[in-house]
Amino acid sequence: MSLYIASLNSGSNGNSYYIGNDREAVLIDAGLSCRETERRMRKLGLQMSLVKAIFISHEHDDHIRGLEVLSRRYQIPVHITDETLGNSRLQLDAHLVRALSPDQHTAIGGLSILAFPKTHDAIDPHSFVVSTDRGDGSAIRIGIFTDLGHVCANLIQHFQSCHAAFLESNYDETLLENGRYPWPLKNRIRGGKGHLSNHQALELFVRYRPSFMSHLLLAHLSQDNNRPELVQRLFEDASKGTFVVVASRHGESEVYAIDGNYDGQAGIGATADWIDNPVRATRTAGSGAEVAPAADSSPKPAAIGHSKIRRRRSALLNRPGQPIQTTLF
Ligand SMILES: [Zn+2]
Ligand SMILES: [Zn+2]
Repeated sequence: MSLYIASLNSGSNGNSYYIGNDREAVLIDAGLSCRETERRMRKLGLQMSLVKAIFISHEHDDHIRGLEVLSRRYQIPVHITDETLGNSRLQLDAHLVRALSPDQHTAIGGLSILAFPKTHDAIDPHSFVVSTDRGDGSAIRIGIFTDLGHVCANLIQHFQSCHAAFLESNYDETLLENGRYPWPLKNRIRGGKGHLSNHQALELFVRYRPSFMSHLLLAHLSQDNNRPELVQRLFEDASKGTFVVVASRHGESEVYAIDGNYDGQAGIGATADWIDNPVRATRTAGSGAEVAPAADSSPKPAAIGHSKIRRRRSALLNRPGQPIQTTLF
């Protein structure tokens, strides 16, 4: 048994993430137009008929832009908190609205979806863990962790339970500091209710990665204040065998099969000494120069039977597609 996951798009121009098994699936957020969601799922061989529910993390436009049409056209129920719905201009069909409650498991066929609160500049934002029971008392868990003001105890706890995760790595601190954004906007992004920096995301990964985390998809990268190749290299250097890929702002990812059987190297924990190398990160971001990968003898997913993983990392990073819409962040 596996869970199949894909990013349909990731960034301030639209977010939508697919998680499913062989019989049913859910979308986390619907920030692409309905037509573009259909098109990208078709390209990936994913069927809309399997999508039994859409879960909404918060009311920002990049997470709900395609929701009304998508829900109505395919009669897909929308799980959303009362406050998020009330703070949006969404006009959903009433019979398709399902109240979302934090810290409760919602069953969608063989999938279980847990929402938990996060810190972000929205009325009632939530992260999600989607899981499926493997039939032997264990589960496969996928985390969807984007739009995060900071790394809170909730996030650490759930990150440590996941076999794969979409994790926000929104901005490089130096690029943001030196960039064109006005000061108040810079402070909004990095002020604890905005977005996670590369450094914050990397520290979470290095400290709290569980040994069974086979895949990490870096998500919601800023157009202006980040570089996909920088993020790829930063996390690859620290991956210790976890497959790392950047989810693009300009196209869908591959579909990854998460079988829950990976057994690698856990993170270093909360107390061990660790500093990433901001000087190196800054130099890389500024010059475009590549950092030599660290020597690493840990097993790679390809060597442990992840036959369904298709690696087109360079194609993903270099894809020339145009953003659907460019907004700040
Ligand atoms: Zn967002
Ligand atoms: Zn947001």
